[in-house]
Amino acid sequence: MAFDLGDVKKYEAEIVRIRRRIHAHPELSYKEFETARFIAQKLKSLHIDVKTGVGGTGVVGLLKGGQSGKVVALRADMDALPVTENVNLPFKSVRPGVMHACGHDTHIAMLLGAAMLLSEHRGELHGKVKFLFQPAEEAGGKGGAKLMIEDGAMNNPKVDYVFGLHILGAVPSHIFALRPGPIMAAPDTFRIRIIGKGGHGASPHETVDPIFASAQVVTALQGVSSRMMDPTEPFVVSVCSIHSGTKDNIIPDEASLEGTVRTLNEKTRARAKRYVTSVAESVSKAFRAKAEVEFKRDEYPVTVNDPRTTEKVISSLKKIRGTRTIECKPLMGAEDFSRFLQKAPGTYYFLGTGNPRKGCVHPNHSSGFKVDEDVLKYGSLSLANLACEFGSVT
Ligand SMILES: [Zn+2]
Ligand SMILES: [Zn+2]
Repeated sequence: MAFDLGDVKKYEAEIVRIRRRIHAHPELSYKEFETARFIAQKLKSLHIDVKTGVGGTGVVGLLKGGQSGKVVALRADMDALPVTENVNLPFKSVRPGVMHACGHDTHIAMLLGAAMLLSEHRGELHGKVKFLFQPAEEAGGKGGAKLMIEDGAMNNPKVDYVFGLHILGAVPSHIFALRPGPIMAAPDTFRIRIIGKGGHGASPHETVDPIFASAQVVTALQGVSSRMMDPTEPFVVSVCSIHSGTKDNIIPDEASLEGTVRTLNEKTRARAKRYVTSVAESVSKAFRAKAEVEFKRDEYPVTVNDPRTTEKVISSLKKIRGTRTIECKPLMGAEDFSRFLQKAPGTYYFLGTGNPRKGCVHPNHSSGFKVDEDVLKYGSLSLANLACEFGSVT
């Protein structure tokens, strides 16, 4: 069974209506209470089994097909961002300082659209479809995916395949973009405390200058990427904050640096963390200062698309009339869908919504982010088709 545009067209108005309703009422990470309630009601109205409170505010729907087959999970994240919306829309956010600037409102709408389509045809459906509505993707650190997994979302029944869709303002609308293998990076954040010994700016020799040591560390860290890491493996290190000192003639006692490391495979990731630590420590030591390096724990893993599954996904997407499917480069941003992919093979893919004619020109996370709603039905269609196709894998 595979659906086409005609099948999803009758749900289009409802999909857009849901998206606008959620867009107007955004909720921040871990606080998706109203959103979760709305989703649970909608799933129940479709006669889909619902579990709420999964990993906090997460909602899991289970649709049993009339035919035997695999368990396919489809995931949408639910949280908004602390951004004040700067687009004038009739369904603009009613909550100052909170906005669905990453498009998670559309993810919910598209997944509910897929649920409408699949529940209508449940008799012919092979296997079971699990709808994962996840809290706190934007939170970083532990994040909502991990909480849902710890709460059993990938078991009972055990998920065989998992798929996630994200819209992207930077890609033209009606284009699906994806790749086999790594598609999003691991985002490690570090803090370096450089401890010296303060004194008078006129007598640096009587001090241990943490500002000078910091400057050397910032410079030397770029040598990790250019001299120490495999040039064929993507690696980014950026120092993004540096704080020290109070007055123009005082050498301070300490400096603190913060930054991010991005990698696309777990081996490179481990090596990068080791080198950043050793370079910061030894460069500081060369100038008699001491560096304490700390990496934040529990950061999102690399998002890795299963190659075999993804080849099948690509051919499924290519069949959708009115869209185009391209292979994209990996993005150095991060996604906790990676945690679901550690539990089952699957694919994370993008759908472009950039459309200058409709004023959809700003990237995700921008206060001017605007979505070409025409693409939503295609997103629903793609998800529903993946559920059908992978449900009947033998
Ligand atoms: Zn985001
Ligand atoms: Zn997002």
